Amino acid sequence: MAEVPDKIQTWQMVQPTSRDKETGEVIPGKLEETAIPVPELKEGEVLVEIAGCGVCHTDLGYFYDGVPTVSKPPLTLGHEISGMVVAGDENWIGKEVLIPAVMPCRQCYLCKTGRGNRCLNQKMPGNSMGIYGGFSSHISVPSIDLCEIKNRGDIPLSHLAVVADATTTPYQAAKRAALENGDNVVVIGIGGVGQYMVQEAKALGASTVIAIDIVEERLKKMLSYGADFVINSSGKGLKDISEELRAIRKQRQLSNYGWKIFEVSGTKLGQEIALNLLGFTGKLIIIGFGLQKVEYCISRLMAFDAEIIGTWACLPEYYPQILEMVLSKKVEIEPFVQTRPMSTIVETFKEAHRVAPDKRIVLTPDF
Ligand SMILES: [Zn+2]
Ligand SMILES: [Zn+2]
Repeated sequence: MAEVPDKIQTWQMVQPTSRDKETGEVIPGKLEETAIPVPELKEGEVLVEIAGCGVCHTDLGYFYDGVPTVSKPPLTLGHEISGMVVAGDENWIGKEVLIPAVMPCRQCYLCKTGRGNRCLNQKMPGNSMGIYGGFSSHISVPSIDLCEIKNRGDIPLSHLAVVADATTTPYQAAKRAALENGDNVVVIGIGGVGQYMVQEAKALGASTVIAIDIVEERLKKMLSYGADFVINSSGKGLKDISEELRAIRKQRQLSNYGWKIFEVSGTKLGQEIALNLLGFTGKLIIIGFGLQKVEYCISRLMAFDAEIIGTWACLPEYYPQILEMVLSKKVEIEPFVQTRPMSTIVETFKEAHRVAPDKRIVLTPDF
């Protein structure tokens, strides 16, 4: 049995990257190893010993790109966490768990009407839980939100961290899209989240899944994990891409309406491709995040009777279903995850910010 520590060891974001207002000079961000107090556990709270915490695009946005955290720095980033309960509520001690990236308040109107994933009082480790986040040895959380991991077979507990965010966000997106059997789906952006969007769309019954990305290797790989067709958009115009899609439609005799398009890249180009492909009675679901603006003739939505939908995080209630898909290998995580010691966080952040890694990086505590 793991011990309850006196202090939490952690990698704190002392300051994010910023710019000097006058000179425009970049002031580098700072991540620092330190120890912080173990918070007093309130009724219903538990202390989790962290097995792994995934590095998400959102963390990099906070550290490099000026996206503000709710709790002001210094704070620890990281919201994609798996681990084991070591203190607090006795019913949970010794259990392996996922900590949902977003924990709703369960009291407000949004929570009571099924929209708790976007609850305005929600708590997110590494953003709105004070100084506490996942790039640490431990974290305290409400036990009501935890998802217990049972019978994980040969999948390491640390790898399952990706289920806390990268794997669950696409599931919520599929719910928002009312994805059903026989749907035709396009997924744009095959990164840490898009890989699961493709797999889950297929697992949830989509008849055709087309993946679009600019990296040939990633696309090829997806043909073994849920994609029926892939389109490499690198160096192509919007028209070329829609022509390629049209050719697939013809070849497979697929309808030209009702396509569900998931934009996961968060890039300008990805969003432009998505808008260009949105057609009659179609749905465009926005999962990726970027700070750029794109231009669109919004009246096309009227002519197409189409929808554009945003989606944020995932309800904790869905976690057991998603975990089941992963443990039964309907959705594979092992080919898409790598672990590194948490002490590599500075280099890892740098590297992941430069090029999105092919395999999601989970940092494992080595304090
Ligand atoms: Zn995330
Ligand atoms: Zn709420």
